[in-house]
Formats: sequence, structure tokens, C-alpha cells
Amino acid sequence: MTKYSYLCVMASWLDNNVKYVAGVGEARAKLLEKELGILSIGDLLRHYPFRYIDRTKIYSIGELNENMNSSLVQLRARVTGIGYAGAGRKQRFSAFVSDSTGSAELIWFQGIKWIEKSIEVGREYLIFGRPSFFRGEVSLVHPELDLVEKALSRKSHSGMQGIYPSTEKIGSALGAKGFYKVICNAWSAAEQHITEIMPREVMERYNLIPLKEALYNIHFPQSPEKLKAAERRLKFDEFLGVQLSIQSMRSDRLSKNNGFLFPKVGDLFNTFFNEKIPFPLTGAQKRVIKEIRQDTVSGYQMNRLLQGDVGSGKTMVALMSMLLAVDNGFQACMMAPTEILARQHFATICRQTEGLNLKVAILTGSSKSKERRLALEGIASGEVDILIGTHALIEDKVQFANLGYVVIDEQHRFGVEQRARLWTKNQQPPHILVMTATPIPRTLAMTMYGDLDVSVIDELPPGRQPIRTYHYTDAARLKLWGFLRKQIAEGRQAYVVYPLIKESETMDYKDLEDGFESIVRDFPLPDYRVTVCHGKMKPQDKEESMRQFKEHEADILVATSVIEVGVDVPNATVMVIESAERFGLSQLHQLRGRVGRGGGQSFCILMSGEKLSREARQRLQAMCETTDGFRLAELDMKLRGSGDINGTQQSGMAFDLKIANPTLDTELLQTAREAAIWILANDPNLQNPKNATLKALRARHAGKQRFDFSQIS
Ligand code: ADP
Ligand code: MG
Repeated sequence: MTKYSYLCVMASWLDNNVKYVAGVGEARAKLLEKELGILSIGDLLRHYPFRYIDRTKIYSIGELNENMNSSLVQLRARVTGIGYAGAGRKQRFSAFVSDSTGSAELIWFQGIKWIEKSIEVGREYLIFGRPSFFRGEVSLVHPELDLVEKALSRKSHSGMQGIYPSTEKIGSALGAKGFYKVICNAWSAAEQHITEIMPREVMERYNLIPLKEALYNIHFPQSPEKLKAAERRLKFDEFLGVQLSIQSMRSDRLSKNNGFLFPKVGDLFNTFFNEKIPFPLTGAQKRVIKEIRQDTVSGYQMNRLLQGDVGSGKTMVALMSMLLAVDNGFQACMMAPTEILARQHFATICRQTEGLNLKVAILTGSSKSKERRLALEGIASGEVDILIGTHALIEDKVQFANLGYVVIDEQHRFGVEQRARLWTKNQQPPHILVMTATPIPRTLAMTMYGDLDVSVIDELPPGRQPIRTYHYTDAARLKLWGFLRKQIAEGRQAYVVYPLIKESETMDYKDLEDGFESIVRDFPLPDYRVTVCHGKMKPQDKEESMRQFKEHEADILVATSVIEVGVDVPNATVMVIESAERFGLSQLHQLRGRVGRGGGQSFCILMSGEKLSREARQRLQAMCETTDGFRLAELDMKLRGSGDINGTQQSGMAFDLKIANPTLDTELLQTAREAAIWILANDPNLQNPKNATLKALRARHAGKQRFDFSQIS
């Protein structure tokens, strides 16, 4: 399929290579492609500013104060003199400027030759840059300069100048003003080629401004109101493309009506429920099992997302629903993101179902030949009822006799393709339950995933005491060891987690191997037993140390974040996280979720250095203040900023969105969803010629194959 630029969903002049834009050319075009993924002129116009600065505001030098440190300001001042300092590579060039209120120094370390040639003493300039302050003196390093007469005579598009996402290489190839100029040039050339892609009645119904006007105002806002309308229009287009695609897939899935039927609540389920279950289910667990039951008798294929905070008991829901599948003559499988977790699930499920007429097998990347053969043969012959494993499950060799039900644990840990391959294991697609502890607000999940029903476990098993979280700096290390001793003396176990495995020269982070040694040193008594687990170890060694810890043959498990997800050792009550400032909030929350699983009071201790960035401090503070995963996820989103792609990818949302942000623009997302449903209701296959552009817009998103588990069908 030809790659059309976004703006023109159909072939258009805008598909032309960006090199034809004045001021770009071959070399810079290559750089734009490599650094920013900009290939065509349309791509360039879709490279939107991430903020704007007010070029109409001119400060007087006397007005500048330390609060403006490093923010962009514009001055109008006369050059009174120039000077040099230093020599060789340390050389710097200064221009001294003043207005009626004060004076400032402009400093260059690079491009000196060029700047000294172009600057004229005695003339007045518009100066644009970031002031810094030292002993009451104001200076600006590498500011932009523009002769006042020139600047005033130049026709400008807008008083608000866009600041564009860029990279260091682009910055030095084009210069600060350069990118803006390129955008201006692109606009002049492209303007006449921009055609509307939205059918008129959609524009009217949803109050959208024309595409051309939106593009003009996103780059050159004529007023704050126009900018807002422009953003709304461009975001709407992105959301609509995604929603058209999701809604089409959904109706496609529902029209097939080919879901396996699990009508029977049979022996396995009943015996387990009446005799084996180790604890009463929480209300939330019961509700979710009921929801799954309803789905699996509906005749439609189930696509369900199960959200539940760490420790809320998702595994039990997975197990009981797998028993339902087996009771109805189907095989089930459960895929976990790590070997450790797969082995743990296998052990737990074997233990809990002991005595039932149920055959459970495991398959991971490191399965030995015997284990592998048992699993593969058993699965193919139909003898194995439940297969548990890692992504080894999706290998082609794994042929199920009759796969009816798939559980994916900790879905955010899997790549998209890995997930997508499981449902092709059968002619008829199995029911899918995707589980995650990464909370996504319910409405968002429903709208963004669209083709997915959502269940929530919003209740922790009874008797859990909230985990107490503390932040210590290294100065308190002795206190920490003392505390660990006390806990261990009471028969408890502790995790000590490190961010890195090997010492890094550039970073002063606590390294696992060092840490292990110091713990062994600090816990010299023979009755404290320490074991280690990290990603670089051989699978069987990892397994052995997990086993030791699980069976309380070790008191302390020193580990990297390989234990982040899923690991369940209820007797462990202390989680120490070293260099905690290095972990993201959701990771910290996951790690903390390893404790507080039994009845005992649990603790999470975040260790860090004294010096912390403001953001790191906020993260650690938030951890100390709340154990609510939803609140932490929200805060995480805020801290990482709206433009953060990782954040959305982590929660499984990998759409090609340049400007729309599903976590912030929720209302518009709902609107676009409604629009997609409305459009498809009138024209299910988008066959009407007036919807041709919408069909293309939809294809863009479907064609990308970047859908998350909304792909499931
Ligand atoms: P997660 O949702 O994080 O995967 P798990 O399924 O690992 O949580 O469950 C956490 C712990 O809570 C396990 O030790 C599990 O046995 C226990 N658990 C689960 N459900 C209940 C319940 N209804 N009552 C008591 N304990 C439970
Ligand atoms: Mg789990």
C-alpha cells in the first residue's frame, strides 16, 4: 500500500518528498526522515508545535528577574559593544546590549565567526532567548537576533510562534529559527493543495472547522480561540480514524456469531468451588466470573479486559474460568510475561487443583526436552487440559487439539504481535481474557479499545492491611538493616530490589551484586539466608532461588525487577527498593504489590540518594502517600506529561496519534466514538462516495496493524 501522508488520505500533491520545500533539500530531508520520521510535505505539516510563544510581548531588560530564569523572553535593545574572552576551544564572544531600563550580555560559544560578522554595534535588535542571572547581571547564551527594522517590515503569520518537537541534530542543521521558516515555506507551497477530508454533515454535526483553517491555525494561531478550534478539529480526525476502525472490527466480530459455547458448569468447576478453593471469593471476583460466564454462553467470541490492582486476586478468576472451559470440553491456556511468573502460576494451579481430574502442563522458552515433549504432545492429542507458559505458547509448533479459552496475564508486558498470534491457533477464535494491573480508567479503556469489554476487580481480599511506605536516604541504611533484622526475627521475609545488574560506570546506582555482598556482610548470622535472582541468571538457577524464597528456605531475596510482576509469596512483608528514583511510578507500584499479600502488616521502603530531581521526589512522595493504583496511574500520566508516548504504549495503546491524547482529551474521544457509530450506522461499509475519504482514514489505522488487543477477533 502506498504511504499517503496523513493529511491527504488519498494520493495528493502533499505526498511529495519534503526535500522540495524551500530551505530543505536532499541532506536535510534525509535528516528529517531519520530524526523525526518526516518523509512527505504532508508529514511536515502534521508535525505540530508542542507549544507557542508570544512574539508580540517585548520585555524591558529592567523587567527581567530570577523567576524568569531559563524561560524564553524577547527584548528590544541596542548593541553597545562587543568583546572576546578565552582562547582556542574555550573562546567566547559577547555582545553588550542595553535599553532604557538596563543592560545585558549576549554570549556565544559557537558560530562566533558568523555572529561577529553579522552583528553591528549601534543598531537595535529584537533579541530572543533564555536569560540567566549571576550576581545581578543578566546574560543570554546563544540568543536569536533580528534587526528591528527587518523584523518589523517582515510580514508574520502570527504573533504566537510555534515551538516544534525537534532533536539535537535537527536543531543544529536548521537552527532555532530554521524549522519555523521551513514550516512557513511548506505552508505557502502546500496551502492550495489542502482539500477537505471530512464530509460536510459530519463537520456540521460536530462543529468542526475546515481542515485547511485548522492546519493554518495550528502552525500560525490567529487567536487563542482559533488555536483551540484547530486543535479540536485535528484531534477529532485522529480519534475518528481509530474509532471507525475499532467499531468496524467490533461489528465484524459480532456479526460472525461464532463464539464457542460454555453452557455447562461442570464437575471440575463445582468440585473446585465446593472442595478445593482455599478462600471465599470476594464479591468482585464472583461478579467477574459471572460476567465471563455470560459472555461464554452468548454465542459471540469474548474479548474481555480484566483490570484489578496488584494483589486483587486475578489469578483465581483466571483459573476458575479456565475450569469452565475444560468442563465444556475445551482446552485453555494462560500466557504470562516472564518465566518466573509462568512457573509460579503452574505451581499454584497444580497445587490448588490437586485431586481434580485435570491435566495441567507448562511450556516456556527454557523447557527441557521432556517437559517440552509432554506439553506439545499432550496439547496436540487433547490430553492436556490447561497449558501455562510464556510467549513460547505462540510458537508455531504449539498445536492445540481444541483451544477454546485464552488468558493473558499482565498484558501490558507483551508485544502486540505476540498477543495477536494466539488467536490464530484455532479455526474458530477462542474466548480471550486479558488481565492487567495497569489501571486505565474504565471509560477510556472502553473507548480506546472499543472492541473490548471491561471487568474490574475493585475490591481486595479481606484482611489486607494497607502497606506502609517510607522513603529513606542512604544515610538511614543502618536503620534499614536493623528493621530488616527485626522483621526476619519475626519469621517474615524481605525482597531487596536493585535497578541494575552490572555496575555502571556512569551512574552511581546501587548495583545488585554489590548489594548482595553487603547484605551478606551485614547479615553475618548463619540463620539469615539470602538468595539472588536476576535476568541474567540461567533459568534453572532463577527457578531454584525463587523456590528457596517461596518455601522460606531464604529470608531475603535480592533481585532485579524481574520479580516486578505477579510474584506471589504471601509471607514476604518487606519490599526494599534500592535507587528507587530510577523506577517509574507504575513499576514502583507493581514492585510494592509483591508484599501485603498475606495477613501481616507489610512495608515498602524506598531507598534513594540525597539529591533527587523534582519529579523523582514527587514520585517517591506519591508512593508514600497512597496505595491506590488508579491514583498513581493518573499522577504518573501527569508527571510524564501529555506528550509521552511511552505512557500510552505501556497501557497498551499504540495508535498513531500526533496530537490527540486519549488520557486527556476524553470528552472528544467520546464524541469521536459517537461519530464513528453514527457514520457506520448510516453507511456500514463506508461505500457511499461521500465517505470515501473516511474509508481511507479508517484504512490508515487498520492498515497499520498496530492495534492492541482490539485486534483480537
Ligand atoms: P493479582 O491480581 O495481583 O494477580 P493474585 O492473583 O496473585 O493477585 O492474588 C494475590 C494473593 O491474594 C494470592 O496470594 C492469592 O492467593 C490471594 N487471594 C486471591 N483471592 C483471594 C480471596 N478471595 N481471599 C483471600 N486471598 C485471596
Ligand atoms: Mg497476577
